[in-house]
Amino acid sequence: MKEEIENKPVITKIPTIYGDLWFFGFKFEDEEIVAISNKRKIKNPINLRIHSCCFTSEIFGSLKCDCVQQLNQFMKLMGEDKKNNYLLIYFLNHEGRGIGLLNKLKVYEVQRKLKLDTYEANKYLGFDYDHRNFDKAIYILNYFKIEEITIFSNNPQKVKILKERGFNISIKKFLVRPPSTYALHYLMTKAERGGHFIKEEIRKLIEKNMK
Ligand SMILES: [Zn+2]
Repeated sequence: MKEEIENKPVITKIPTIYGDLWFFGFKFEDEEIVAISNKRKIKNPINLRIHSCCFTSEIFGSLKCDCVQQLNQFMKLMGEDKKNNYLLIYFLNHEGRGIGLLNKLKVYEVQRKLKLDTYEANKYLGFDYDHRNFDKAIYILNYFKIEEITIFSNNPQKVKILKERGFNISIKKFLVRPPSTYALHYLMTKAERGGHFIKEEIRKLIEKNMK
């Protein structure tokens, strides 16, 4: 990734509904990635979220997943906590776990018609469950000289990748209020099939919802 090393991020401060936040825009050969922090000078230890864009929920208000709630929750923490360092790495190209917006819509339609879960529908259309690659997040963490991370995530895969790359990781399980029963079942599928950390919490929410 020689080209990226020569490229410094574009940096600016933006007033947001969560407070004033620093935006760091990284330009890679094939994509742009934004990192956002409550601090101009990013230091260890850091509270980190690596977030894949989800236009369907974040722009269009879809209730099928909880991505927008997770994003808002993390932004809120970042804006409110003046003491600690936060970093959000936002992947603009990760729609549908990397298959793109239109393919994601195809997956949704297969789910709707054939009553499949997200794993089965991806498989039905010939996609792997997850097409994302997090190398550029590693690059950005290295750029900021980050070593000590508390990751806000329920995804064991992300934790594994960071551990393998030598980061010192602790995990903050991240349960936000799921926006709908669709989202609850989606989360349960990810917990059961993908080993996500919050299976017990989701099971309780589903039980409560059924009462
Ligand atoms: Zn989503």
